[in-house]
Amino acid sequence: MTNIAEIAEMDRRTVLHPFTYLKDYASGDTDPTIIETGKGIRIKDATGREFIDGFAGLYCVNIGYGRTEVAEAIARQAYKLAYYHSYAAHTTEELARLSDRLVRMAPGNMSKVFYGLSGSDANETHAKIVWYYNNLRGMPKKKKIIARERGYHGCSVVAGSMTGLSFYHDHMDLPVSGILRTGVPHFYRGALPGETEEAFSQRRADELEALIIAEGPETVGAFIAEPVLGTGGITPPPAGYWPKIQAVLQKYDVLLIADEVVCGFGRTGAMFGSHLYGMEPDLVTVAKGLTSAYVPLSASIVSQKVYDVMEAATPRVGSFSHGYTYSGHPIGAAAANAVLDIVEREDLAGQSATKGAYLLKRLKAEFDQNPIVGEVRGVGMLAALEFVSDRGTKASFDPGLKVGARISQAARNRNLIARAMPHGDILGFAPPLVMTEAEIDEMVAIAKAAVDEVLKELDAQGAV
Ligand code: PMP
Repeated sequence: MTNIAEIAEMDRRTVLHPFTYLKDYASGDTDPTIIETGKGIRIKDATGREFIDGFAGLYCVNIGYGRTEVAEAIARQAYKLAYYHSYAAHTTEELARLSDRLVRMAPGNMSKVFYGLSGSDANETHAKIVWYYNNLRGMPKKKKIIARERGYHGCSVVAGSMTGLSFYHDHMDLPVSGILRTGVPHFYRGALPGETEEAFSQRRADELEALIIAEGPETVGAFIAEPVLGTGGITPPPAGYWPKIQAVLQKYDVLLIADEVVCGFGRTGAMFGSHLYGMEPDLVTVAKGLTSAYVPLSASIVSQKVYDVMEAATPRVGSFSHGYTYSGHPIGAAAANAVLDIVEREDLAGQSATKGAYLLKRLKAEFDQNPIVGEVRGVGMLAALEFVSDRGTKASFDPGLKVGARISQAARNRNLIARAMPHGDILGFAPPLVMTEAEIDEMVAIAKAAVDEVLKELDAQGAV
């Protein structure tokens, strides 16, 4: 039996938790949730309480919990060789096999894979590769990176600066210089009256072009974006967005970094979000679904075009001087190979497309007429409800009412984890891709009860 009180006391005293109100936790106002086990789409805490994990951890446990075949692959590799580095052309069989399959699976014309441990460090690597590439090409001014408002790319120094959500910057001296910002393609919020999706996309592309011209194309190195905006609100792009954006990038020789950390490996209903939207990235970031988070692993995938410049410069610049102790860790590679075997064998991208369509249909059926739901949106196994105080004007709730957080808590009280997204009043769903239709019904029914409960409270408060 777990000694809950002892663990809670130790944890409260010693763990600096991410995204936690430190004072509330230290003073005992918030209690830890000690997660002990997971199976399929469910996790269980130390009191024995079971939750549906409607967010697959942090949209990462795509194959579901408790897949013993992955645990066995990890154990086999740990027994055989727990670690060796990948510096100076050292490798393992698992690493070579994983890289071969990633280059073949990935969107665009990819050539090489560099490994890290998190989405943040993989984007950090891409920033360095953009700078390196343009230095090697004799274009030392072409360094600025354009990212989008509400984009999420991690919380390390440069990746955190590319993230376009200000609370990741506040009090931490971010963003660093050299990061530019362009508009988010959220049609529901950003479209002008009467504007079509295509026209709105064109306006976003025109804004991007104007920004590049204003800064000077010779100073702009790359554009980074998630195929589907994730943490900033789970927002699929409007029609025509990606072709129009890519046309601008090509015109000004600006690299496209596709941040596929959430979208990769089936989440959107295609193997990669870039496939779904016809994107041809120069650099691709993957993490999360790569190992379904069974162990930490990320990758920065580099196109032939970029790699050729790097290789050709070797006689002049020497070795590629970037790498981590754990780059290409053999246990990570073994886990990724076992996970990708499951993703391919069970056609989880296809499953995500059909079950995602079902999820969106069920959410629309339950919430399209709800007085506080302004938009029901999603693609594949990614979906969101955006709450508004007035559907006609799309007015947001007073942030002090914490509507999104309260609905998420009401769902949690009913044993469903659905995430209150950090920006606005948005409830996000990103369940394991193995969730069945019956489990989707269960999840949506709980979400409905949670929204109804908070709607009733808001009514009583006079807030709707
Ligand atoms: N990019 C995207 C699109 C993400 O959603 C995330 C994490 N949510 C990251 C990068 C950063 O990944 P990590 O938390 O592993 O550093």
